Amino acid sequence: MRSLEKSNRHFQKALTRLPLGVSSNYRYWGEDKTIYVKRAKGGRFWDIDDNEYIDYRLGFGPAILGYADPRVDEAARAGMEIGGVFGLATELEYEVAQKISRMVPAAELVRFSNSGTEAVMAALRVARAFSGKDGHIILEGGYHGVFNEVLWYSNVEEWKPGDGTPEVLPLGEGVPEIIKPLFHTVPLNDANALEDVLKKHGDGIGAFLVEPIMGNCCGLTATDQYMQDVRSLCDRHDVLLIIDEVKTGFRVAKGGVQELLGLKADLCTFAKAMGNGYPISVVAGREDIMRKIGDGVLHGGTFTCHSVSLSAANKTLEILEETDALATIENYGLSLQKGFGEILTARDIPHCFIGHPSMMGLFFDDTAPRNYRDWANTDYEFYDAAAPELHELGILVEPDSREPWFMCEAHDVKCLEETLDKFEKAVDITLNKLPSERHRAVTAYK
Ligand code: PLP
Repeated sequence: MRSLEKSNRHFQKALTRLPLGVSSNYRYWGEDKTIYVKRAKGGRFWDIDDNEYIDYRLGFGPAILGYADPRVDEAARAGMEIGGVFGLATELEYEVAQKISRMVPAAELVRFSNSGTEAVMAALRVARAFSGKDGHIILEGGYHGVFNEVLWYSNVEEWKPGDGTPEVLPLGEGVPEIIKPLFHTVPLNDANALEDVLKKHGDGIGAFLVEPIMGNCCGLTATDQYMQDVRSLCDRHDVLLIIDEVKTGFRVAKGGVQELLGLKADLCTFAKAMGNGYPISVVAGREDIMRKIGDGVLHGGTFTCHSVSLSAANKTLEILEETDALATIENYGLSLQKGFGEILTARDIPHCFIGHPSMMGLFFDDTAPRNYRDWANTDYEFYDAAAPELHELGILVEPDSREPWFMCEAHDVKCLEETLDKFEKAVDITLNKLPSERHRAVTAYK
């Protein structure tokens, strides 16, 4: 059995100074399950009890090449020599912006920020300014960061088919009710539902904010047809299409999900993978829209384009653009799926994989859910029960099945073999425990 003795002891100490003993609610996994990291390297990390884990959370996606990648860290050290932040620009910003525009054709102009939240916040502000309309739509089950305009969710877990639209609730306290009328939701892969909302509220809606592979919802994936319908409906109703590529960007393809779909957003956002873990993000888009920045719209920030993060991003993007790192990552994901498939099929456990092999959802049913409503009405108990067993064996995945498994370039054959071996053990342990002991994972969402 894994011991979390030191982590548990540290949790009690941390609790005296930090709410929930951590610096993000999502890192709290309960009094006796919250993990404190000692160090990480490649596709693995070690906690303060010296437990070793193969990591498929990868900090929710940033470590695309692996932790402490020597190529990126060397660039970051060179960035340190430049001096940090100056309240002034550097030449390197143009070079990194050029790389992004080359990789993502929709990114005609680029502005940098520090986090996904900041980038999406800026995208919505620019969209409101350009369209002259304050409202926005997001997909049910979508997550776009921790700011008021997106801290709302559709309560599909208490929704049944025939109920109409699921109730929209604030994601926690302190989110001003005054914003609610600006916020609308639609189910993924239902263009009619989108059209209905646009017909009814289109005059007040400036943007549709979409994540076509839903990185916080099991990897639920928009169909090509749906995204084409979305593109034309947005055009018809003068609504800007914002594609949030905070998770998919520079991961599912060099040009992100927009390359896979063969379409261009009006605005798009990037963050996690672009700096291999160093904090940096981007809002980018069509030139005429992006020129609103500086022509009415304020955008900035003291720490924007810190020389360490910028140098790390420059190197990360160079590697992703010029090498076959993304193909390696995709192949690893496919091998994992093949191995999991064999283990589950041998035990007659229905399953399917959704999302992209580099950020996949593992779903215990024969057919993939079409949207969050489908997901909420299917059985995810097996996943919830298996995840803690994987943790015990040293495979780290999010306990909540809505978070996909993330792959990195440093996941190698050894990681693969070890993961398959431990996955098989975890499945058998879970089968022995269910259905009598249906323990659900502790999630910070609740
Ligand atoms: N957008 C998406 C799609 C995300 O997945 C996230 C974070 O997980 C964000 C925005 C917010 O990014 P950050 O946590 O860097 O603020």
